[in-house]
Amino acid sequence: MSFETLGLSADMLRAVSEEGYTVPTPVQKQAIPYILQGRDVLAGAQTGTGKTAAFTLPLLQRLSTGPAPEKVKGRKPIRALVLTPTRELASQVEESVRTYGKYLSLTSAVIFGGVNINPQFSMLRRGVDILVATPGRLLDHLGQGSLDLSSVETLILDEADRMLDMGFIRDIRRVIAVLPKKRQNLMFSATYTDEIRTLAEGLLANPASVEVARRNTPAEKVAQRIFPVDRDRKRELLSTLISEGDWRQVLVFTRTKHGANRLAKQLEQDGLTTAAIHGNKSQAARTKALAGFKNGEVRILVATDIAARGLDIDMLPHVVNFELPNIPEDYVHRIGRTGRAGAEGEAVSLVCVDENDFLRGIERVLNRSLPKEVIPGFEPDPSIKAEPIFKARQPRGHAGPRPGSKPRSGGHGRGGRNQSSRRKPQGRA
Ligand code: AMP
Repeated sequence: MSFETLGLSADMLRAVSEEGYTVPTPVQKQAIPYILQGRDVLAGAQTGTGKTAAFTLPLLQRLSTGPAPEKVKGRKPIRALVLTPTRELASQVEESVRTYGKYLSLTSAVIFGGVNINPQFSMLRRGVDILVATPGRLLDHLGQGSLDLSSVETLILDEADRMLDMGFIRDIRRVIAVLPKKRQNLMFSATYTDEIRTLAEGLLANPASVEVARRNTPAEKVAQRIFPVDRDRKRELLSTLISEGDWRQVLVFTRTKHGANRLAKQLEQDGLTTAAIHGNKSQAARTKALAGFKNGEVRILVATDIAARGLDIDMLPHVVNFELPNIPEDYVHRIGRTGRAGAEGEAVSLVCVDENDFLRGIERVLNRSLPKEVIPGFEPDPSIKAEPIFKARQPRGHAGPRPGSKPRSGGHGRGGRNQSSRRKPQGRA
Protein backbone atom coordinates (compact mmCIF):
# COMPACT_ATOMS: atom_id res chain seq x y z
CA MET A 1 0.00 0.00 0.00
CA SER A 2 1.24 3.48 -0.84
CA PHE A 3 0.49 6.89 0.65
CA GLU A 4 -1.52 7.75 -2.49
CA THR A 5 -4.24 5.26 -1.61
CA LEU A 6 -4.84 6.80 1.82
CA GLY A 7 -6.63 9.80 0.42
CA LEU A 8 -3.92 12.35 1.10
CA SER A 9 -3.72 15.47 -1.04
CA ALA A 10 -0.91 16.28 -3.46
CA ASP A 11 0.66 18.77 -1.03
CA MET A 12 0.83 16.15 1.70
CA LEU A 13 2.14 13.47 -0.65
CA ARG A 14 4.87 15.79 -1.84
CA ALA A 15 6.00 16.54 1.71
CA VAL A 16 5.91 12.84 2.61
CA SER A 17 7.93 11.81 -0.39
CA GLU A 18 10.51 14.50 0.32
CA GLU A 19 10.95 12.92 3.73
CA GLY A 20 11.82 9.73 1.89
CA TYR A 21 8.78 7.79 3.11
CA THR A 22 7.50 5.39 0.50
CA VAL A 23 5.23 3.09 2.45
CA PRO A 24 2.90 4.15 5.26
CA THR A 25 3.54 2.48 8.61
CA PRO A 26 0.76 0.30 10.08
CA VAL A 27 -0.55 3.05 12.33
CA GLN A 28 -0.57 5.48 9.41
CA LYS A 29 -2.43 3.00 7.20
CA GLN A 30 -5.07 2.46 9.80
CA ALA A 31 -5.48 5.90 11.34
CA ILE A 32 -5.18 8.30 8.40
CA PRO A 33 -8.42 7.31 6.61
CA TYR A 34 -10.46 7.57 9.83
CA ILE A 35 -8.97 10.94 10.75
CA LEU A 36 -9.62 12.25 7.26
CA GLN A 37 -13.26 11.23 7.69
CA GLY A 38 -13.42 13.35 10.82
CA ARG A 39 -13.82 10.45 13.21
CA ASP A 40 -12.55 10.24 16.75
CA VAL A 41 -9.68 7.79 17.03
CA LEU A 42 -8.15 5.83 19.87
CA ALA A 43 -4.76 4.57 18.74
CA GLY A 44 -2.44 2.23 20.56
CA ALA A 45 0.97 3.10 19.21
CA GLN A 46 4.25 4.00 20.77
CA THR A 47 7.06 6.28 19.69
CA GLY A 48 8.84 5.01 16.61
CA THR A 49 5.74 3.63 14.91
CA GLY A 50 5.25 6.76 12.82
CA LYS A 51 2.36 7.92 14.99
CA THR A 52 3.21 11.61 14.67
CA ALA A 53 2.74 11.56 10.91
CA ALA A 54 -0.34 9.37 11.42
CA PHE A 55 -2.16 12.26 13.06
CA THR A 56 -0.30 15.25 11.62
CA LEU A 57 -0.83 14.45 7.93
CA PRO A 58 -4.63 14.08 8.04
CA LEU A 59 -4.92 16.94 10.51
CA LEU A 60 -3.08 19.30 8.17
CA GLN A 61 -5.12 18.13 5.24
CA ARG A 62 -8.42 18.68 7.01
CA LEU A 63 -7.44 22.12 8.20
CA SER A 64 -6.18 23.15 4.79
CA THR A 65 -9.23 21.96 2.89
CA GLY A 66 -11.93 22.95 5.36
CA PRO A 67 -13.46 26.42 5.42
CA ALA A 68 -11.11 29.00 6.91
CA PRO A 69 -12.63 30.34 10.11
CA GLU A 70 -13.28 34.02 10.85
CA LYS A 71 -10.68 35.90 12.83
CA VAL A 72 -11.55 36.26 16.52
CA LYS A 73 -10.74 39.73 17.90
CA GLY A 74 -8.45 40.26 14.95
CA ARG A 75 -6.56 37.06 15.68
CA LYS A 76 -6.31 33.84 13.75
CA PRO A 77 -8.14 31.30 15.94
CA ILE A 78 -6.43 28.14 17.16
CA ARG A 79 -8.02 25.28 15.23
CA ALA A 80 -6.06 22.30 16.48
CA LEU A 81 -4.50 21.60 19.85
CA VAL A 82 -1.93 18.86 20.43
CA LEU A 83 -1.09 18.06 24.04
CA THR A 84 2.10 16.17 24.82
CA PRO A 85 3.70 15.12 28.11
CA THR A 86 7.16 16.57 27.56
CA ARG A 87 8.82 19.58 26.02
CA GLU A 88 10.91 17.41 23.75
CA LEU A 89 7.91 15.65 22.34
CA ALA A 90 6.09 18.96 21.92
CA SER A 91 9.03 20.35 19.94
CA GLN A 92 9.30 17.24 17.82
CA VAL A 93 5.60 17.22 17.02
CA GLU A 94 5.63 20.85 16.04
CA GLU A 95 8.66 20.25 13.89
CA SER A 96 6.71 17.48 12.14
CA VAL A 97 3.78 19.85 11.65
CA ARG A 98 6.14 22.25 9.91
CA THR A 99 7.78 19.53 7.86
CA TYR A 100 4.60 17.91 6.62
CA GLY A 101 2.83 21.24 6.22
CA LYS A 102 5.55 22.99 4.28
CA TYR A 103 3.39 23.32 1.15
CA LEU A 104 0.42 24.66 3.07
CA SER A 105 -0.14 28.11 4.48
CA LEU A 106 -1.12 26.92 7.94
CA THR A 107 0.80 28.23 10.92
CA SER A 108 1.87 26.44 14.07
CA ALA A 109 3.54 27.12 17.39
CA VAL A 110 4.80 25.21 20.37
CA ILE A 111 4.52 26.27 23.99
CA PHE A 112 6.02 24.62 27.04
CA GLY A 113 7.34 25.57 30.41
CA GLY A 114 10.90 26.12 31.54
CA VAL A 115 11.42 28.91 29.02
CA ASN A 116 10.54 32.61 28.98
CA ILE A 117 6.79 33.06 28.60
CA ASN A 118 6.97 36.48 26.90
CA PRO A 119 7.77 35.35 23.34
CA GLN A 120 4.87 32.92 23.71
CA PHE A 121 2.53 35.84 24.49
CA SER A 122 3.43 37.67 21.31
CA MET A 123 3.21 34.50 19.24
CA LEU A 124 -0.25 33.76 20.61
CA ARG A 125 -1.34 37.35 19.99
CA ARG A 126 -0.52 36.88 16.32
CA GLY A 127 -2.52 33.67 16.29
CA VAL A 128 -1.76 30.21 14.93
CA ASP A 129 -3.76 27.39 13.36
CA ILE A 130 -2.08 24.56 15.24
CA LEU A 131 -0.81 24.77 18.78
CA VAL A 132 1.36 22.08 20.32
CA ALA A 133 1.72 22.36 24.07
CA THR A 134 2.48 20.69 27.34
CA PRO A 135 -0.43 20.92 29.77
CA GLY A 136 1.18 23.01 32.52
CA ARG A 137 2.23 25.97 30.43
CA LEU A 138 -0.98 25.81 28.44
CA LEU A 139 -2.94 26.28 31.66
CA ASP A 140 -0.69 29.19 32.64
CA HIS A 141 -1.67 30.89 29.41
CA LEU A 142 -5.33 30.10 29.88
CA GLY A 143 -5.14 31.55 33.38
CA GLN A 144 -3.53 34.72 32.08
CA GLY A 145 -6.07 35.11 29.31
CA SER A 146 -3.41 34.95 26.62
CA LEU A 147 -5.02 31.97 24.97
CA ASP A 148 -8.40 31.39 23.38
CA LEU A 149 -9.29 27.78 22.71
CA SER A 150 -12.92 28.38 21.79
CA SER A 151 -12.36 27.61 18.10
CA VAL A 152 -10.50 24.32 18.47
CA GLU A 153 -11.81 21.80 15.95
CA THR A 154 -9.43 18.94 16.74
CA LEU A 155 -7.85 17.88 20.00
CA ILE A 156 -4.97 15.42 20.02
CA LEU A 157 -3.60 13.78 23.12
CA ASP A 158 -0.22 12.37 22.26
CA GLU A 159 1.29 9.80 24.62
CA ALA A 160 -1.78 10.06 26.78
CA ASP A 161 -0.56 7.26 29.05
CA ARG A 162 2.59 9.15 29.88
CA MET A 163 0.65 12.31 30.55
CA LEU A 164 -1.39 10.40 33.09
CA ASP A 165 1.77 8.85 34.54
CA MET A 166 3.13 12.34 35.02
CA GLY A 167 0.04 13.42 36.88
CA PHE A 168 -1.46 15.63 34.19
CA ILE A 169 -4.98 14.21 34.34
CA ARG A 170 -6.48 17.20 36.14
CA ASP A 171 -4.73 19.62 33.82
CA ILE A 172 -6.03 17.72 30.81
CA ARG A 173 -9.56 17.85 32.15
CA ARG A 174 -9.28 21.57 32.78
CA VAL A 175 -8.15 22.11 29.21
CA ILE A 176 -10.92 19.94 27.79
CA ALA A 177 -13.47 21.93 29.79
CA VAL A 178 -12.73 25.10 27.82
CA LEU A 179 -12.85 23.49 24.38
CA PRO A 180 -15.93 23.61 22.17
CA LYS A 181 -18.14 20.55 22.71
CA LYS A 182 -18.20 19.72 19.02
CA ARG A 183 -14.75 18.70 17.91
CA GLN A 184 -12.70 15.78 16.68
CA ASN A 185 -10.66 13.93 19.31
CA LEU A 186 -7.62 11.78 18.71
CA MET A 187 -5.91 9.93 21.48
CA PHE A 188 -2.59 8.11 21.16
CA SER A 189 -1.28 5.90 23.91
CA ALA A 190 1.32 3.15 24.08
CA THR A 191 -0.60 1.27 26.77
CA TYR A 192 -4.22 0.74 27.79
CA THR A 193 -4.55 1.07 31.50
CA ASP A 194 -7.90 1.47 33.27
CA GLU A 195 -7.09 5.16 33.62
CA ILE A 196 -6.61 5.49 29.87
CA ARG A 197 -9.87 3.68 29.20
CA THR A 198 -11.73 5.99 31.56
CA LEU A 199 -10.24 9.05 29.93
CA ALA A 200 -11.03 7.69 26.46
CA GLU A 201 -14.63 6.90 27.38
CA GLY A 202 -15.20 10.44 28.61
CA LEU A 203 -13.43 12.07 25.72
CA LEU A 204 -14.04 10.12 22.54
CA ALA A 205 -17.31 9.77 20.68
CA ASN A 206 -17.75 6.46 18.89
CA PRO A 207 -14.01 6.21 18.29
CA ALA A 208 -12.36 4.14 15.62
CA SER A 209 -9.87 1.89 17.29
CA VAL A 210 -6.41 1.51 15.86
CA GLU A 211 -3.97 -0.93 17.35
CA VAL A 212 -0.51 -1.64 16.08
CA ALA A 213 1.98 -4.11 17.36
CA ARG A 214 4.71 -2.82 19.56
CA ARG A 215 7.50 -1.58 17.42
CA ASN A 216 9.60 -4.50 18.33
CA THR A 217 8.86 -6.88 21.04
CA PRO A 218 12.10 -7.38 22.89
CA ALA A 219 12.08 -11.10 22.34
CA GLU A 220 12.25 -10.57 18.60
CA LYS A 221 15.12 -8.30 17.80
CA VAL A 222 16.91 -7.05 20.83
CA ALA A 223 19.66 -9.11 22.35
CA GLN A 224 19.30 -8.70 26.09
CA ARG A 225 21.93 -9.53 28.64
CA ILE A 226 22.18 -9.13 32.37
CA PHE A 227 25.56 -8.43 33.91
CA PRO A 228 25.47 -9.11 37.65
CA VAL A 229 27.83 -6.67 39.38
CA ASP A 230 28.30 -5.00 42.75
CA ARG A 231 26.53 -1.66 43.10
CA ASP A 232 29.78 0.22 43.66
CA ARG A 233 31.43 -1.23 40.59
CA LYS A 234 28.76 -0.49 38.03
CA ARG A 235 30.38 2.66 36.72
CA GLU A 236 33.72 0.95 36.28
CA LEU A 237 32.05 -1.95 34.45
CA LEU A 238 30.15 0.43 32.20
CA SER A 239 33.32 2.33 31.25
CA THR A 240 35.05 -0.96 30.55
CA LEU A 241 32.22 -2.27 28.36
CA ILE A 242 32.09 0.95 26.38
CA SER A 243 35.83 1.29 25.93
CA GLU A 244 36.65 -2.35 25.26
CA GLY A 245 33.64 -2.91 23.04
CA ASP A 246 34.32 0.40 21.30
CA TRP A 247 30.64 1.31 21.69
CA ARG A 248 30.02 4.56 19.88
CA GLN A 249 26.46 5.62 20.64
CA VAL A 250 25.19 4.49 23.99
CA LEU A 251 21.96 5.44 25.70
CA VAL A 252 22.26 4.80 29.42
CA PHE A 253 19.27 4.81 31.75
CA THR A 254 19.34 5.72 35.40
CA ARG A 255 16.43 5.83 37.80
CA THR A 256 17.01 9.32 39.12
CA LYS A 257 18.00 12.75 37.87
CA HIS A 258 20.71 12.93 40.48
CA GLY A 259 22.01 9.52 39.44
CA ALA A 260 22.08 10.65 35.80
CA ASN A 261 24.13 13.73 36.64
CA ARG A 262 26.56 11.85 38.82
CA LEU A 263 27.11 9.09 36.29
CA ALA A 264 27.59 11.54 33.42
CA LYS A 265 30.24 13.35 35.42
CA GLN A 266 32.06 10.13 36.27
CA LEU A 267 32.04 8.91 32.69
CA GLU A 268 33.44 12.24 31.56
CA GLN A 269 36.22 11.72 34.07
CA ASP A 270 36.85 8.36 32.44
CA GLY A 271 37.43 10.25 29.19
CA LEU A 272 34.10 9.40 27.56
CA THR A 273 32.08 12.30 26.10
CA THR A 274 28.80 12.19 27.96
CA ALA A 275 25.71 14.30 28.40
CA ALA A 276 22.80 13.91 30.79
CA ILE A 277 19.18 14.58 29.97
CA HIS A 278 16.43 14.84 32.57
CA GLY A 279 13.60 17.00 33.79
CA ASN A 280 15.75 19.45 35.73
CA LYS A 281 17.81 20.42 32.71
CA SER A 282 16.92 23.55 30.83
CA GLN A 283 15.33 23.14 27.45
CA ALA A 284 18.45 24.54 25.79
CA ALA A 285 20.65 22.02 27.59
CA ARG A 286 18.40 19.12 26.63
CA THR A 287 18.23 20.16 22.99
CA LYS A 288 21.99 20.54 22.86
CA ALA A 289 22.61 17.17 24.50
CA LEU A 290 20.25 15.43 22.14
CA ALA A 291 21.72 17.10 19.05
CA GLY A 292 25.25 16.19 20.16
CA PHE A 293 24.22 12.60 20.73
CA LYS A 294 22.53 12.32 17.36
CA ASN A 295 25.47 13.78 15.44
CA GLY A 296 28.06 11.67 17.24
CA GLU A 297 29.79 14.41 19.24
CA VAL A 298 28.41 12.94 22.43
CA ARG A 299 29.15 9.26 22.80
CA ILE A 300 27.01 8.53 25.83
CA LEU A 301 23.65 9.99 26.71
CA VAL A 302 22.51 9.34 30.26
CA ALA A 303 18.77 9.71 30.67
CA THR A 304 15.91 9.14 33.05
CA ASP A 305 12.81 7.35 31.77
CA ILE A 306 10.64 10.42 31.65
CA ALA A 307 13.24 12.49 29.82
CA ALA A 308 13.83 9.77 27.25
CA ARG A 309 10.17 9.14 26.64
CA GLY A 310 9.02 10.58 23.36
CA LEU A 311 12.49 11.34 22.09
CA ASP A 312 13.08 10.37 18.55
CA ILE A 313 16.23 8.50 19.36
CA ASP A 314 16.04 4.92 18.43
CA MET A 315 17.73 2.36 16.25
CA LEU A 316 20.54 2.66 18.72
CA PRO A 317 23.19 -0.01 18.79
CA HIS A 318 23.48 0.04 22.59
CA VAL A 319 21.06 0.66 25.39
CA VAL A 320 22.32 0.19 28.93
CA ASN A 321 20.23 -0.07 32.05
CA PHE A 322 22.66 1.29 34.58
CA GLU A 323 19.87 0.75 37.05
CA LEU A 324 16.82 -1.36 36.39
CA PRO A 325 13.53 0.51 36.35
CA ASN A 326 11.12 -0.34 39.14
CA ILE A 327 8.25 -0.52 36.64
CA PRO A 328 8.76 -3.47 34.28
CA GLU A 329 6.99 -1.73 31.39
CA ASP A 330 9.65 0.97 31.49
CA TYR A 331 12.22 -1.72 30.80
CA VAL A 332 10.32 -2.65 27.66
CA HIS A 333 10.19 1.01 26.58
CA ARG A 334 13.87 1.47 27.26
CA ILE A 335 15.10 -1.48 25.30
CA GLY A 336 12.65 -0.69 22.50
CA ARG A 337 15.13 2.02 21.54
CA THR A 338 17.45 -0.50 20.04
CA GLY A 339 17.50 -3.05 17.28
CA ARG A 340 14.78 -1.60 15.12
CA ALA A 341 14.08 -2.72 11.57
CA GLY A 342 16.54 -5.55 11.58
CA ALA A 343 19.42 -3.40 12.83
CA GLU A 344 21.66 -5.09 15.34
CA GLY A 345 20.74 -3.99 18.80
CA GLU A 346 21.82 -4.90 22.25
CA ALA A 347 20.37 -4.01 25.61
CA VAL A 348 22.46 -4.74 28.65
CA SER A 349 21.49 -4.31 32.27
CA LEU A 350 23.95 -3.88 35.12
CA VAL A 351 22.19 -5.51 38.02
CA CYS A 352 23.32 -5.46 41.63
CA VAL A 353 21.96 -7.44 44.54
CA ASP A 354 19.53 -4.62 45.46
CA GLU A 355 17.69 -5.01 42.18
CA ASN A 356 16.86 -8.69 42.17
CA ASP A 357 13.17 -8.00 42.82
CA PHE A 358 13.04 -5.59 39.89
CA LEU A 359 14.69 -8.16 37.66
CA ARG A 360 12.17 -10.82 38.67
CA GLY A 361 9.32 -8.39 37.91
CA ILE A 362 10.75 -7.69 34.46
CA GLU A 363 11.25 -11.37 33.69
CA ARG A 364 7.67 -12.02 34.73
CA VAL A 365 6.40 -9.40 32.27
CA LEU A 366 8.62 -10.75 29.49
CA ASN A 367 7.58 -14.25 30.43
CA ARG A 368 11.12 -15.55 30.30
CA SER A 369 14.35 -15.32 32.17
CA LEU A 370 17.14 -13.20 30.77
CA PRO A 371 20.64 -14.55 30.21
CA LYS A 372 23.08 -13.60 32.95
CA GLU A 373 26.76 -13.26 32.35
CA VAL A 374 29.40 -12.44 34.93
CA ILE A 375 32.24 -10.39 33.47
CA PRO A 376 35.66 -11.62 34.65
CA GLY A 377 37.06 -9.15 37.12
CA PHE A 378 33.57 -7.95 38.07
CA GLU A 379 32.31 -11.00 39.94
CA PRO A 380 29.76 -9.92 42.55
CA ASP A 381 30.92 -10.22 46.15
CA PRO A 382 28.48 -12.70 47.75
CA SER A 383 28.97 -11.12 51.18
CA ILE A 384 27.30 -7.88 50.05
CA LYS A 385 23.70 -7.77 51.21
CA ALA A 386 20.79 -6.15 49.42
CA GLU A 387 19.98 -2.60 50.46
CA PRO A 388 16.56 -1.05 50.08
CA ILE A 389 16.17 1.22 47.10
CA PHE A 390 12.97 3.05 47.88
CA LYS A 391 11.35 4.59 50.87
CA ALA A 392 8.53 2.52 52.30
CA ARG A 393 5.91 5.25 51.94
CA GLN A 394 4.00 5.17 48.66
CA PRO A 395 3.27 8.54 47.10
CA ARG A 396 -0.34 9.59 46.89
CA GLY A 397 -2.12 8.44 43.80
CA HIS A 398 0.31 5.61 43.21
CA ALA A 399 -1.28 2.86 41.20
CA GLY A 400 -0.35 0.32 43.81
CA PRO A 401 2.27 -2.34 43.84
CA ARG A 402 3.34 -3.80 40.56
CA PRO A 403 5.45 -6.84 40.01
CA GLY A 404 8.96 -6.06 41.03
CA SER A 405 8.18 -2.56 42.23
CA LYS A 406 7.45 -3.47 45.81
CA PRO A 407 9.17 -0.98 48.07
CA ARG A 408 11.02 -2.62 50.88
CA SER A 409 10.20 -1.47 54.34
CA GLY A 410 12.56 0.72 56.27
CA GLY A 411 14.16 1.89 53.09
CA HIS A 412 16.06 5.04 52.80
CA GLY A 413 17.91 7.05 50.29
CA ARG A 414 18.85 5.97 46.83
CA GLY A 415 16.30 6.67 44.21
CA GLY A 416 13.48 7.42 46.62
CA ARG A 417 12.87 10.86 45.25
CA ASN A 418 12.30 9.68 41.77
CA GLN A 419 9.89 7.00 42.85
CA SER A 420 7.72 9.55 44.57
CA SER A 421 7.97 11.93 41.65
CA ARG A 422 6.77 9.38 39.13
CA ARG A 423 3.14 9.57 39.97
CA LYS A 424 2.56 13.07 41.11
CA PRO A 425 2.45 16.18 39.00
CA GLN A 426 6.00 17.02 38.27
CA GLY A 427 8.30 18.19 35.60
CA ARG A 428 5.67 20.64 34.42
CA ALA A 429 7.21 20.65 31.04
P1 AMP B 1 7.15 8.66 15.51
O1 AMP B 1 6.58 7.33 15.89
O2 AMP B 1 6.12 9.61 15.08
O3 AMP B 1 8.03 9.20 16.59
O4 AMP B 1 8.08 8.44 14.21
C1 AMP B 1 9.29 7.75 14.26
C2 AMP B 1 10.18 7.98 13.08
O5 AMP B 1 9.66 7.37 11.91
C3 AMP B 1 10.37 9.45 12.72
O6 AMP B 1 11.75 9.68 12.60
C4 AMP B 1 9.68 9.61 11.39
O7 AMP B 1 10.37 10.57 10.60
C5 AMP B 1 9.76 8.23 10.79
N1 AMP B 1 8.63 7.89 9.90
C6 AMP B 1 7.33 8.24 10.05
N2 AMP B 1 6.58 7.71 9.05
C7 AMP B 1 7.41 7.02 8.26
C8 AMP B 1 7.23 6.24 7.07
N3 AMP B 1 6.03 6.07 6.53
N4 AMP B 1 8.32 5.68 6.50
C9 AMP B 1 9.53 5.83 7.07
N5 AMP B 1 9.78 6.55 8.20
C10 AMP B 1 8.73 7.13 8.79
